[in-house]
Amino acid sequence: MRIVDIRPTTVAVPLEAPLRHSNGAHWGRFVRTIVEVEADNGLVGLGEMGGGGESAEAAFRNLKDYLVGHDPLQLEALRWKIANPTASLYNNRVQQLAAIEFACIDLVGQHLGVPAHDLLGGRLRDEVPFASYLFFRYPDPADGSGEVRTIDQLVEHARKLKAEHGFTVHKLKGGVFPPGYELACYRALAEALPGDRLRYDPNAVPSVEEAIRFGQAVEDLDNDYLEDPTWGLAGLRRVRERVRIPLATNTVVVDFEQLAANVLQPAADVVLLDTTFWGGMRACVKAAAVCETFQLGIAVHSSGELGVQLATMLHLGAALPNLTLAADAHYHHLRDDVIEGGKLSYTGGRIRVPTGPGLGVRLDRDRLARYADLYRELGSYPYDRDPGRPGWYPLVPSDRWADPLTAVDKPVDK
Ligand SMILES: [Mg+2]
Repeated sequence: MRIVDIRPTTVAVPLEAPLRHSNGAHWGRFVRTIVEVEADNGLVGLGEMGGGGESAEAAFRNLKDYLVGHDPLQLEALRWKIANPTASLYNNRVQQLAAIEFACIDLVGQHLGVPAHDLLGGRLRDEVPFASYLFFRYPDPADGSGEVRTIDQLVEHARKLKAEHGFTVHKLKGGVFPPGYELACYRALAEALPGDRLRYDPNAVPSVEEAIRFGQAVEDLDNDYLEDPTWGLAGLRRVRERVRIPLATNTVVVDFEQLAANVLQPAADVVLLDTTFWGGMRACVKAAAVCETFQLGIAVHSSGELGVQLATMLHLGAALPNLTLAADAHYHHLRDDVIEGGKLSYTGGRIRVPTGPGLGVRLDRDRLARYADLYRELGSYPYDRDPGRPGWYPLVPSDRWADPLTAVDKPVDK
């Protein structure tokens, strides 16, 4: 089997409402690039990468010079061909490698008639549990629905997601409003959802002192962990000295150099494995094995996914022996997907691991075309700008919090 073509398509898929975070927002849609890698036997493997547009599509097309003629089974050679870490100062292709790796594993799985998880060591569980991933949200500009700003709105949103999908773990994405307000939100969730577990992720923007204050104020709750409660390995180490809650990160342990530093001088107790940020499913399996050796916790991270990337998260989650924590997914905030059958569904807070050959998901051509059109209409959005606060930009540590008393009916798109 040899690669004969690589076809990228950037799509924009609508969200229920704009999702707010410490750097700005996801502006009412996810922009993703779907990559189809065709082999000489006619099979097509699927990959996915965050972001898109002409530059992303051109970057994938440029890889044709490297990869036409490559055997998709040769996954280790793939890494060295396009993402040699010592060349990364000039050619950082980790996320492209991830998308191509997904597609190659999809091709190999289809070729051999086995699901992707069988190529990662085999399936240890049939379903992967997920956290609810609660965001503060602006209202959908189209109809004003979906706002999450007040404590009552947040609790109602969490209860609704729990009723619809069965979540028993809830992650609050913070770093938007003043820490004292987000503390009140977090405690309100704990009170409203007795018996469920919680995690809080302010995307690394609180100061060390604020992080310690927040952590100490929630030590009595049923916490999985605090995720990036402050910035950096050194900052996490200082918080870890003073707070008796495990700390997690998806920002400062995202490669093997950083993992080594975190083993030698612990900062994060839980390493969040992202199939894109780490450069593929296989890199995550390797990182999980290191964590298993040193008894660090792991979970499956979400960097905003459509069904192709979600499938990689499910196959990874199926194959990791030391996965004891729920995964994260932005997925339930989406209105649709580009895969056949539309969005995969949650049952009891879990999604079934696909068992078909390869990734086990296929593209719906009509949906792909529709959301490629939507991308051409709307374009990309700046992840690090806030459509409700024109001109604003964050500092780290932050003191430029949004005002929870200010409602923004119509966030400016563009
Ligand atoms: Mg995070």
